[in-house]
Amino acid sequence: MTQELATRYPLVMVPGLLGFVRVVVYPYWFGIVSRLRQGGAKVFPVMVSAVNSTEVCGEQLLQQIERILRETGAAKVNLIGHSQGALTSRYAAAKRPDLVASVTSVAGPNHGSELADYLGRSFPLGTVRRRLLNGSMRLMAGLMRLLETGYRGPKLPIDVDASHQSLTTEGVALFNHRCPQGLPETWGGQGEELVNGVRYYSWSGTLQPGRSDRGRNRLDGTNVTCRLFARTFTREVGHCDGMVGRFSSHLGTVIGDDYPLDHFDIVNQTLGLVGKGADPVRLFTEHAERLKAAGL
Ligand code: CA
Repeated sequence: MTQELATRYPLVMVPGLLGFVRVVVYPYWFGIVSRLRQGGAKVFPVMVSAVNSTEVCGEQLLQQIERILRETGAAKVNLIGHSQGALTSRYAAAKRPDLVASVTSVAGPNHGSELADYLGRSFPLGTVRRRLLNGSMRLMAGLMRLLETGYRGPKLPIDVDASHQSLTTEGVALFNHRCPQGLPETWGGQGEELVNGVRYYSWSGTLQPGRSDRGRNRLDGTNVTCRLFARTFTREVGHCDGMVGRFSSHLGTVIGDDYPLDHFDIVNQTLGLVGKGADPVRLFTEHAERLKAAGL
């Protein structure tokens, strides 16, 4: 085994909404965790509530971090969060910066998701259609809980409305007020890389007609879904990955924000079916090299 990706601190991978470690034999971080491990990195894909507020998920993550530190004897961890997992990671780092070497946001809605805003407008609280939407989310979360084989721990609570509120522009603005570390001061800018001893990084992609919808993505239903979801965007119209806007994803040092990757491609979903010329796994290996070079 080679050691080129052997970071000083373990890599803790934090999933987003409806996240999982492994459904039957299928991993969330498809081809990513295995590739990082081949390079000598210690990698821990963790589980938090599949549908809940960032704060609830963040507290669960802190418990997992403490467990990983006990098991490995490491002093800190590097957190890598996808989608809402980026907010969950930011929460943990804001509360316990002493335990966190870095936070990396991968397609994180760091200024909210316009898709969540649209759902809030179209499915108002207290309506039948909202109850149906919430019911289907609970059903999916329950089904995935049954099929989960990578997480063995207590049953994690589900709260659909709290999760939704944690992803809207308004909800994330409240969260950002309490956890401002690494946020850019201007829309579209970069944030401070080093805050309270924690390094902050981000990357994200955008839908690019002729690239992200070609290649193996022609066979992938999640790409079609992202293209449909992208129609709900008004502020970052034409500049989103289907769920998160390009500038909304900015946190700390922005490694890149226009890779031709939709919101699922960026974690090599589904089954590595991604658009033309895209290599999401390489972004993770390059980042492990970056963390290692920074002594993290
Ligand atoms: Ca895909």
